[in-house]
Amino acid sequence: MMSVGGLKKVSDHGADYVLTQLMAAGYEAYLVGGCVRDAVLQKPIKDIDIATSALPEQVMECFPRTAPTGLQHGTVTVILKQGTYEVTTFRTESQYENFRRPTSVAYISDLSEDLRRRDFTMNAMAMDMAGAVLDPFGGQKDIEDGILRCVGAAEERFGEDALRMLRCIRFASTYQLEIEAKTWAALLAQASLLRHIAMERVRSELQRMVEGPAPARAVRLLLASRLTAHLKKQLPLPFERWLAHDAALDVVSALAEQHDRWVLLLMLMETPADSVRQALQELTFSRADMDAVVAVLALRESLAAQLLGGDTQDAASDTADQPLLERAWKFGAVRHGSAAASTLLRVLRVLPQPDRETDGELARFRSSIVPALLRNGEDWLSEIPCFSLKDLLLSGTDLAELTGKPPGPWMGKLLLQLLELTALGEIQNERQALLCAARDACN
Ligand code: ATP
Ligand code: MG
Repeated sequence: MMSVGGLKKVSDHGADYVLTQLMAAGYEAYLVGGCVRDAVLQKPIKDIDIATSALPEQVMECFPRTAPTGLQHGTVTVILKQGTYEVTTFRTESQYENFRRPTSVAYISDLSEDLRRRDFTMNAMAMDMAGAVLDPFGGQKDIEDGILRCVGAAEERFGEDALRMLRCIRFASTYQLEIEAKTWAALLAQASLLRHIAMERVRSELQRMVEGPAPARAVRLLLASRLTAHLKKQLPLPFERWLAHDAALDVVSALAEQHDRWVLLLMLMETPADSVRQALQELTFSRADMDAVVAVLALRESLAAQLLGGDTQDAASDTADQPLLERAWKFGAVRHGSAAASTLLRVLRVLPQPDRETDGELARFRSSIVPALLRNGEDWLSEIPCFSLKDLLLSGTDLAELTGKPPGPWMGKLLLQLLELTALGEIQNERQALLCAARDACN
């Protein structure tokens, strides 16, 4: 049961001003959607959405500064010094094309018809200027009972807009709600419609699930729903492997950094870093996010490849050869970057023992490499004099002078080799030593 006692009004001067102006001009105006839900839940409010009986051009007449940010949906953004406010004319959504967002909207004069088009009862409430909640679909009662429920017939609602199924899992996990039986049954029945939803929107929902307060719950619901089997683009990720790592799912929320959470979740899938890169690309992750996450997985993979050897080893008894591990670690840290190395240590620090006896590569990595790596990894990193070519005290120009050869790809390769040798402590990061080593390498 969640408490909805002591309800507070959304106290936001900008919102009060927008409502006052619209009402003074003779229109109805209410706060709607997420901000009302969060006020009822007594959670911090993010963006404020306002619904009104005024038509978009009438809204624009009420305020000196506006931007027509979504005119096709009836939305005008009001710009105040306190912030921006999305003001949307009461509307219905009559036609949905391809199971996603409506193609045409019709303006209406009735607030409760506007609330009816919304996805879940807790998102279908409005609040007036005085703080009174208008709640025609029982959103407050559902919140009190800890239930997430579609407005109206769930199967229809998911059929109109398949993104709502991902929103369902996101809200259920972030607000710790039980999904009402008919809503869940409808989600299972309509799962295959998710193929109509752009990967970018899928990614945004997944990010909010993983980055929210209850990623383990989201993952379990995703698995149970089988939604990931119905994405627009097939991803080379064996999601079902998460089932073998139930205890590890629970520690994801202990990681504060978003990249760390993704690394752990993707690591648990025990799939090559290259496949992960491909999947994150399909999901339209930013280049920076993708590179950061994949570098960590590639680093772990390189350690496993160098130290675990064949799959005949006995997981319980073998422990990694320490000097070999140190070498592989320092080498990998330079190759994949110090950020990747630090992330890997943070993630491995929380990685629990596998749920049951398994002889998978990750289990062997966990038992034979992780303990020594956690003991020494930080120290070994601090021994590395430089992680990037720009800190190496030898440049491409030096190499050109030394060899008399024209610049080319050989240069980058040789500099990287020298960087690796300095990381391993085999040569000092100083000009003479580097020149010597370069000369040796060229001969
Ligand atoms: P948050 O901002 O935390 O994601 P929110 O509920 O405010 O939550 P928004 O995407 O900002 O979500 O949408 C504002 C409101 O618009 C929602 O509360 C809901 O009433 C309605 N809404 C948004 N997306 C949909 C959708 N796909 N189907 C139906 N209603 C929706
Ligand atoms: Mg919102």
